[in-house]
Amino acid sequence: MASFSCDYRHRFEYSSSKDFAPSFPVGKAVCVGRNYADHAAELNNPVPEEPLLFIKPATAMVAFSGNLKLPRRFANPHYETEMTLLIGKKLCCCTATEARNAIAGVGVGLDLTLRTLQNSLKAKGYPWERAKAFDGSCVLSIFAAVDTTINLQNLAVCLWRNGELVQDGNTGQMLFAVLPLLCEISRSFTLMPGDVVMTGTPQGVGELKEGDKLVAELGTLVAAEATVILEND
Ligand code: ZN
Repeated sequence: MASFSCDYRHRFEYSSSKDFAPSFPVGKAVCVGRNYADHAAELNNPVPEEPLLFIKPATAMVAFSGNLKLPRRFANPHYETEMTLLIGKKLCCCTATEARNAIAGVGVGLDLTLRTLQNSLKAKGYPWERAKAFDGSCVLSIFAAVDTTINLQNLAVCLWRNGELVQDGNTGQMLFAVLPLLCEISRSFTLMPGDVVMTGTPQGVGELKEGDKLVAELGTLVAAEATVILEND
């Protein structure tokens, strides 16, 4: 019987003069749907008037490195490449300044989605969790520390699959920018140190196949690579 290891830990790259790296517990991931107009359009979805939020539990998190193992029972997995934020301070009904000060690091992640299942759940008006929050669905790179000089709304979000550039967006295209997004999220879901926010995907999403070699980048800040392995149950 295949079992899920749940041994994920955040990896944090600390590039300042301080000689220690903070460590964070592994919390929840709050994710944003349809935060890029071109991606909403490619799936024939309307652009939302307020952020469309959903949550992945800590058990969904796996490292974006080495072999990316997915059980075959999770049929039709699709990649969505996204800028991710590692939260370092508690946020509840926060201001933009509080939100900025709470971002401990940024990374690049895959919001894996079982597209066929999601479409059938959507058609019935049911929640998406089984298509979005399953084991291994939140694939997270190392997080890079960011100082306040970095413009979070001008970072390339790119994915190469088997050498082909399949997603080529920029965080400047986000419908809800990072700071207002964190403020809005924190009005419903208190964010805690070790939580992650996935900020939505640009266009170019597609299916993952056995043996796919994935390389993702967030600007020049973070890069990650992994090979897709589909495992029998
Ligand atoms: Zn997504």
